[in-house]
Amino acid sequence: ARVDILMSRFWSSLVHTLTPYVAGEQPALRDLVKLNTNENPYGPSPRALAAIAAETTEVLRLYPDPAVRSLREAIAKSHGLDANNVFVGNGSDEVLAHVFQALLKHDKPLLFPDITYSFFPTFCRLYGIDFREIPLDDVMAIRISDYRQECGAIILPNPNAPTGTALPLSEIEKLIADHPDQVVVIDEAYVDFGAQSAIPLVAHYPNLLVTQTFSKSRGLAGLRVGFAVGQPQLIEALNRVKDSFNSYPLDRLAIAGAVAAWEDKEWFEDKRDRVIATRERLSLALRDLQFQVVPSSANFLFARHATLVGAEIAGELRSRAILIRHFPKPRIHDYLRISIGTDEECEKLLSGLADVITSLK
Ligand code: PMP
Repeated sequence: ARVDILMSRFWSSLVHTLTPYVAGEQPALRDLVKLNTNENPYGPSPRALAAIAAETTEVLRLYPDPAVRSLREAIAKSHGLDANNVFVGNGSDEVLAHVFQALLKHDKPLLFPDITYSFFPTFCRLYGIDFREIPLDDVMAIRISDYRQECGAIILPNPNAPTGTALPLSEIEKLIADHPDQVVVIDEAYVDFGAQSAIPLVAHYPNLLVTQTFSKSRGLAGLRVGFAVGQPQLIEALNRVKDSFNSYPLDRLAIAGAVAAWEDKEWFEDKRDRVIATRERLSLALRDLQFQVVPSSANFLFARHATLVGAEIAGELRSRAILIRHFPKPRIHDYLRISIGTDEECEKLLSGLADVITSLK
């Protein structure tokens, strides 16, 4: 009780309005089939690991490059852009935090889908941003025409999360062209697994900002590296917020590892293709177990069993050391989000599911 009194006395009014963000579990247990946080089952390129190891010398005595030029140049070059088109941060979550502060607070509401990355409403509350959530259509997809309304800015993930559905680039371009006076942010955390990136549109649209991450397709969630690509005026706004917050966005190990991972195209393509192939097999196998599976362009599937309750399936799997994600939210409370693991992990999931379905029936 004393702690409660102190909290209510010392906390700012902002803190009282925030509900803790519940990230996917990261339990310490071994021998888990961990399909709950969309990590890459194959891990990072060995070249990234070697680059990180090579950086663990006395150079750690020195501050990193505050401008992170090597990584920004590597990313820019592969898109035919310039380093001043690229902003980097400690995971795309931190990049997005800066984006919300620097670019998304206006006197009209920010628009995003009503089922989307759960950090979006959290950032809005944190930074006092007015927002309006736009419902998905009846097949759980984003409908661009619903965004044709007065707003301060727009943000959406492509593919969306946790649904995994993707919009074609032509639809994204329509959205950007429909709102020439608003910033449109496309969060491409999962884009490499089957959607088209909007980065090629950056040169044509000064209102477009695209964010990506090294956490999923590059297997480096633990290193915490994300980035944004846009025209220099947008990047400059992000730099101003960042410089007031922390002048060293990435540490030396993160910079070395990310540059090497970015350059190892062969590893990236091979592991990406494997994840996609496993996703397609898992999707068919889930259908055989009477799941309705939302078409996915990401490294996860979003699926609902024809008769059984989502929370119960997730709970039963958990007691069998298999972790998947369940969201206790209206409309999607019977859906399960399953990250694509190795083939072996997916086999374990399927036999666990068959067992759970028999026990729940
Ligand atoms: N955007 C979306 C849609 C995500 O699902 C995630 C991962 N939780 C992120 C951004 C952030 O990923 P990270 O901070 O690891 O780059």
